[in-house]
Amino acid sequence: MTATTETTETAGTPVLEAKNLVKHFPVRRGWALRGAKVHAVEDVSVSLRRGTVTAVVGESGSGKTTLARLLARRTSLTGGELLWEGGDALPAGRAYASEVQLVLQDPFASLNPVHGLRYILGRPLKIHGTADGKSQDDAVKALLERVALTPSDQFIEKMPHELSGGQRQRVAIARALAVRPKVLLADEPVSMLDVSIRLGVLNLLADLRDREQLAILYVTHDLASARYLADTITVMYAGRVVESGPAVTIADSPQHPYTQLLLSAVPDPDRDGAPRLAGAGSPPSLIHPPTGCRFHPRCPFAMAKCKVETPPALSVGDSHTSSCWLHENTENAQASPAAGTAGAA
Ligand code: SF4
Repeated sequence: MTATTETTETAGTPVLEAKNLVKHFPVRRGWALRGAKVHAVEDVSVSLRRGTVTAVVGESGSGKTTLARLLARRTSLTGGELLWEGGDALPAGRAYASEVQLVLQDPFASLNPVHGLRYILGRPLKIHGTADGKSQDDAVKALLERVALTPSDQFIEKMPHELSGGQRQRVAIARALAVRPKVLLADEPVSMLDVSIRLGVLNLLADLRDREQLAILYVTHDLASARYLADTITVMYAGRVVESGPAVTIADSPQHPYTQLLLSAVPDPDRDGAPRLAGAGSPPSLIHPPTGCRFHPRCPFAMAKCKVETPPALSVGDSHTSSCWLHENTENAQASPAAGTAGAA
């Protein structure tokens, strides 16, 4: 089975596509688990498009970070394939890194504390030859200005410890931009930042999407920020995609019971009482994931079929799919014709 998202009308052309990705990690500890595997990503497809932000949303252990690492080729595939601009994927290595850049969650750990910004940003410019005929200092200042760290002639002199978390994350993004990538993979880029400065970094990503037509993957556990930034949302649970479609549609009218659970966790001053599905258990072990629908042990709507058969991606609206047997017999639900070629457009 494959979770699917269809192309939206406003989507750009696909840059990086993942088809039916699978990632299993061997369990290395404990004789009782000898030969066991962690089923981290199972049959996941996604399409990153020019000038578009695709959010991948889920709890810890949903496989969203592993998916980002697979797309960045930081870890090998167990199954599935990556396509680059419709053709075979570029081989891993410097050529791939110059097209696909990963921005990590922790801006404090991702910058070397012994080097200043002149070195941190100048090094990738030098290695990839992307200074564009400018002097290295001028190219570094231009990068600082692209991420709104101004005045750039002051920031170029700074060390990482002199910067706030938000400023460090902007430097990490500038370092990624230094190689002129077409794809930016942002793994929880604001989750470690103070709430008051998250919006600035999200706006920076939106600006890069619009101005530079970057294809951006935004990995987050926060449905509200995904709604704010993304064009499409793919929701993952226990290594599988459970719902995918336009961001506003999914955030405002989620169809899958798990997405409804996520939505209930978003603070809402207008909501009375406890969240709807609060306390409905925790994510399962991925060493022995539940059979059938992986959400069935937590799902208040689970039926006998859910425990044995994995639901396919069913169309529940325009470019909107949900992998849930509840939609099987509803009027507008039908097996997605694009199943197997999923994409968050
Ligand atoms: Fe719940 Fe069944 Fe739907 Fe899974 S397939 S979300 S268990 S109703």
